[in-house]
Parts: sequence; structure tokens; C-alpha cells
Amino acid sequence: MGRILFFIFFIYSISHSQENLSYLTYSIPGDIPQNFFESPLKIPLQLSGTFGELRSNHFHAGLDIRTQQKQGIPVYAAADGFVNRIKVAHFGYGKALYIQHPNGYSTVYAHLQKYAGEIEDFVKNTHYENESYEIEVFPKANQLIVKKGDLIGYTGNTGSSGGPHLHFEIRDNSSRPMNPKLFGINVDDTRDPLINSVFVYPQGNDSHVNQNQNPQQIRLVPQTDGNYIAEKITAFGTLGFGISTVDQQNAANNRNGVFRIQTHHNGEKSIDIVFDRISFDETRYINRYTDYGYFKEKKSRIQKLFIERNNPLSILKSSKNNGFISVSDSLNSTYTIFVSDFNGNNVRISIPIEGLKLPIKKEKSIEEHNHFVVAREGALIEKGKFSVYIPPNSLYEDAFLQITSDGDILNFHQDNIPLHTNVTISVDVSNYEASDMDKVFIGKLNYRGEPYYSSTSRVGNVLSTKVREFGTYGLAIDTIPPVITAANFSDKQWISNHKTLQIKIEDKQSGIKNYRATINGKWILMEYEYKNNLLTYDFSDHINSETENNLKLIVTDNVGNSSKFEATFHRK
Ligand SMILES: [Zn+2]
Repeated sequence: MGRILFFIFFIYSISHSQENLSYLTYSIPGDIPQNFFESPLKIPLQLSGTFGELRSNHFHAGLDIRTQQKQGIPVYAAADGFVNRIKVAHFGYGKALYIQHPNGYSTVYAHLQKYAGEIEDFVKNTHYENESYEIEVFPKANQLIVKKGDLIGYTGNTGSSGGPHLHFEIRDNSSRPMNPKLFGINVDDTRDPLINSVFVYPQGNDSHVNQNQNPQQIRLVPQTDGNYIAEKITAFGTLGFGISTVDQQNAANNRNGVFRIQTHHNGEKSIDIVFDRISFDETRYINRYTDYGYFKEKKSRIQKLFIERNNPLSILKSSKNNGFISVSDSLNSTYTIFVSDFNGNNVRISIPIEGLKLPIKKEKSIEEHNHFVVAREGALIEKGKFSVYIPPNSLYEDAFLQITSDGDILNFHQDNIPLHTNVTISVDVSNYEASDMDKVFIGKLNYRGEPYYSSTSRVGNVLSTKVREFGTYGLAIDTIPPVITAANFSDKQWISNHKTLQIKIEDKQSGIKNYRATINGKWILMEYEYKNNLLTYDFSDHINSETENNLKLIVTDNVGNSSKFEATFHRK
């Protein structure tokens, strides 16, 4: 009991005597213009995503602004400038607009339903000139000039968007996304960050935590003031810590990213992580920064508060000894984690550490598998009819991999280790009939063994594909052409009051590669929404005539099977 009382006193004295509160506040760098950008929406700002939020294989590059669960809300230019890029894609940002501003910054508006005014006209013309829904154009400086507050489009749900919202970014003059809140675009937030869990990772051969060399969760005891004190750990040697934390704003319950994590060991700064700016070149290092294996198993992202090799992330600011701490025998200390959101709401976690060199009871568990790959060397591994090329530094660290093959199936380890760059999987398909060879593809198999098409190319009898994820891959054959069905009309129908023409297209095996539609021999723009398998033609494009119209549609899947659809409809 005396010992526990001593500890409580000890923690109290550390946190209240040595702590310098000035490190808690963040000051915006003087070179970031304030009030230059205004909100792109005129509705009250509510966020479903914050900058730097942890997503799969990337940090979120902007703000996701909620749009009242609907599409079609007007979007305005955040500042003066000109449209310097327009990209329309089936996936990713869907319909996106980029504005270049005179001070070197640019803004991005994504997942739009449509553009507005002369921008919409420009985009429509580009679709018809290119005879393609997917386009990317770079207008010149004097072509599409906008003033702050000009209507530029309407919010939507296009591309890889899971619900109506506006994705908004501010990029610096090197196209690096920055946190829009740094520019004064902010929302009400008086809620503290939520702490899900804290972990400790013993490093090296003689380190331990509670006589165990494996990563362990630390039990946290909530305090009445909202902070936490952890249950004391007994440790020795080099340690790193990790945290799973999210932030919530006042007007929405979405679990968003925090703004800053600072750690101290005995009052001395250990690491400072600030979500201020993240370039696209570095964003995939999220798989190095977070505990990848833990996420794959538990669906919770632990941010590692230490810097391992092959982690160049610029959000990791000043650090002492890369965020690792050293615990000596018979020396007590306190490790403090300080989590804050952009508005300065914060939570402190104090972890009392008793330094004790003790015999290790549970050694580091290393799973040995059939291939040991040295990260900086890479490897070329042959298994049955498959061969796998892992380039140098595709792995962040040396690893044992379990790689086996069984006929047309390649078991390429388990998806619990991250891959930074593409790995090439090749497979000999000479056992297939020559006529089938073009219909065979490599797919990633889900838990039910169903293949998901992986972009496959063929040279002679060898198929190959590039992947960035471990898992089970296999050969599959697709001889079934896409299925096409009229969605809102039928053949020979009068549809004078229809605003749009909709057709459902599906290919359950290799998936849709492309499509081409014409009315009376003239190409028509059909917008493809993969989320509901719909193609939509807007009658306001006026390609059809005011009498009988002949519609033709050809849809091709990823291995080249195609289907043709024809129908006649009447309008006046
Ligand atoms: Zn977004």
C-alpha cells in the first residue's frame, strides 16, 4: 500500500511540477494566410472526415463536409482563381474540380454531382469531343476564371464516395494537401478526443514490460478531470508506445482524426506528431506508422508513437531518440501522452513506469515461415506454376513469409504485413486451351474463394498482375459477357416525359471495362455509377431526335467479352 501511495504522489508531482503548459497550445505558422479561403458551402459546416484521418492505405487529404444526406447543394469557389484541372472518373474523386489561386495554393472539390454554368458547358463539350465519360483536362489560366463565392458546382456522391458529401482540399504550391483548418475553415468542437486504447511495444533483446517482450495493451484508469492514469508497468530497456484515438466534433458523431499527439518522458519531449500537411508521395507510409497487423485483426488503428526505419512521414516532427524511451533498472519514471484536436481540446494519459531488470517470462514471438525475405534485397520466389517478384524495399522490414501454391491457387502469405510497392505475380497458363487463355485472369480471392479481378496482362503463356497486398490469389475464367437491362424504359416505348434514360449493366466475373452508347449513330454521354450499376443519359444533351430513336450500347468486360443492346424509343 505504501508503494502505491508513493506512486500516486509521484505521478502527481511529475504532472504538476515539471509540466510546462506552453507545449499544449499550437500556433498557426505565420505564412499561412488567414481568411483567404472561405467555406465552399453556405450551409452550417459539419464534418464527416477531418484532415489526416486514418484511412485504408492513406491519410485523408482534406475535409469531408456533410451535405444533409442529400446531393445538389451549391458549391462555391473558396477564393479567386481559375479552374486549372477537371477530372471525371468512375472511381476515386468522381467528378472533381481544381482551382489555382494567385497565392500559389489550390483548392479541390470532389465527388460532385455536376458542375455549374460555363464549367458544366466546358465539361460537357469535353465529354462529347473525347467520346468518353472519364476525362481529365487542364484549362488555361484565362479560360475558366472564378471569383471567391462563385457557383462552381453541386455536391454529389460520385466516384469512391460512400454517401453524399463534399470532399474539400487545400494544397500548397507543391501540391501537398494541407489541413484546411489551418486557414481558418473550422467547426465548433468542444469535445475532448476519445482514447480507445494504449499499447506498449518492447524493443530489442533484453527489453521487457511486465516480463513480457511482446506488445501489450496498458490498462487505463479514467480520472474525474477527463484525463487518464495508467496502471503502473514494470519495465526495462527500450520501449515505444502506441495509441488508438479519435476525435468528435459537436455537430456530428463521426469518429474523426485528432490534430496532434505529443509525448514526454519524465517531462522531456519524446515525439510530436502534427497533422498539418501530408504529400501524396508519403501517404502510403500510414501502413508503417500504424500497427498494420493489429488493424487487420481487430479493425482498430494504433498509431505508433515512435519512428521505425523506412518511415519518412513529415507529420512526425521533433523527436528524441525517434520517440523510443529508455528505461533503466531501479529508476522510476512517467511517460505522458497528450492528444489534442484542432480546437485545443485535449486528453492526457500518464503512464507510471517502474524500472526493473527482471528475467523474461514471455519471449518475443516470431512466427517462422518458409521464406525469409530481407527487405532491402527483395526476392524472386517460384511456387508451382506461380512466380512472385518482391522488389527491394517493398517490405518495410525483414519478414518470414508463408508462400505456397496448390494448382491454380497461390497462398501469398496473410494480409497482416504491409507492402509499400507493387509485387508482381506471374503464372504459367499453358495448361489452358489456347482459346480460353484470353479469358483467364488473376484475381484476389475473398474468404469465400470468389475472385476479384486484378488487372492482368498476358505475354505468350504467362499471365501477370501487380498487387500491393498479401493474401490468396488464383486463376479464374470469365466467358460470360456483361448483362445489360433497360432500367426506366422498354423497347418501342414513348418516353417523351423522361428526363433521363437509364440502363443497368453488370458483369459478375471480371467486371466492366468499358462501354459505348449511341443514339441514331451519334455517341451519347452515359454517366456510369458503379455503386448501383447504372448508366444514365440526360435528355437535355439533345442528341436524340424528336421522333424515333435507335439506341445501341456495347459493354465489354475486363477479359474482352462484350454484349450488345439495342432498343427503339419515341419522343416528341
Ligand atoms: Zn474525403
